[in-house]
Amino acid sequence: MRFWSPFEDLVADVHSTEGFVNSHAHLDRAYTVSPTMMKLTKNHLHEKWKLVDDIKRSRTVDDYARGIELALDMQTWYGTSHVCSFIDIDDVVGTKAIDGALIARENVDGIDAFFACQTLKGILNENIELLHENIHKFDILGSLPGADKGQESEHIDVMMQLAKDNDLMLHVHVDQLNTPDEKETELLCRKTIQHGMEGRVVAVHSISLAAHKKSYREEVYRMAKDADMMFVSCPTAWIDHPRSETLMPFHNAITPVDELIQHGLTVAIGSDNIHDVYKPYADGDMSVELRFLLEACKIYDKDMLKNIAVDNGLRVCGIIN
Ligand SMILES: [Zn+2]
Repeated sequence: MRFWSPFEDLVADVHSTEGFVNSHAHLDRAYTVSPTMMKLTKNHLHEKWKLVDDIKRSRTVDDYARGIELALDMQTWYGTSHVCSFIDIDDVVGTKAIDGALIARENVDGIDAFFACQTLKGILNENIELLHENIHKFDILGSLPGADKGQESEHIDVMMQLAKDNDLMLHVHVDQLNTPDEKETELLCRKTIQHGMEGRVVAVHSISLAAHKKSYREEVYRMAKDADMMFVSCPTAWIDHPRSETLMPFHNAITPVDELIQHGLTVAIGSDNIHDVYKPYADGDMSVELRFLLEACKIYDKDMLKNIAVDNGLRVCGIIN
């Protein structure tokens, strides 16, 4: 029996244009999960950090190049035309990951790759020197204010200044933990306006925004509009957020994309982690991310979904306005 599938229709439509844009990934960790590692996947986050550090220490530039090449090839196979990947640069990995990423980009055809620095070990320390010396290797400035715990505001100041000095866009991990305790999206909006970075800043995740009451969300949406801030949602990345007894407005553990769009804000999608110790089953197929997004936020408008999957991705990467 023949039937019509709106999802197949949507995906075919995406493939008939530019193809998917994966606006947020960590390709330097992709495909690092192994059968022996599977028993560690439920360990505490801090134990995973140690494991990831051990992997970073032992891998060579060539290992990174081959791993990222595989990830780029797989993205092409899934029909992704552009990918923006964060790449670790810190005192543990040094420049091995970014040097490998640049080699991989040269070796793979059929996909445009952009690299953003992942400041996993904070930048209010000696790591800032490493970043200064190697900033020319990155296309976009990437930031993780949570890595400088208690000094998130100073972290954003330093990264915004660096973005301005080097004329780069800034992608910032914010509000990842799905808790009303976090207000990082608001902070990022304020800092964007303060630094005159309107239209150059992208908030990655902003999940905790959905954990706040409506009046606060509405206020932040207005601020984001003033800051001309864009968003990237990674639908499967935090959908596994642990059950909590905290009372908060009912919502799915995902960026409130439906509300952002209603307020005229630009939203793109990313895969985040692929087959690593954090997300062993995640395969980086952007059609899966799109499906999760449309289900979790109940967005059924085909043009809107296509825009999220393609054009808005090109916008957050600075390819189109
Ligand atoms: Zn990320």
